[in-house]
Amino acid sequence: MAIDPVCKMTVDEKTAKFKTKYNGDTYYFCAPGCKKAFEESPAEYLR
Ligand SMILES: [Zn+2]
Repeated sequence: MAIDPVCKMTVDEKTAKFKTKYNGDTYYFCAPGCKKAFEESPAEYLR
């Protein structure tokens, strides 16, 4: 399982519909809103 960096929910990588690549790593999200928030300011969620 992966952790949604925005809301900290666990997300199954195998079924995740929302994901993005950043600095060579793939991040998974529970919802499009979380993905959008991450893409707008990724550094804020990776501290
Ligand atoms: Zn989320």
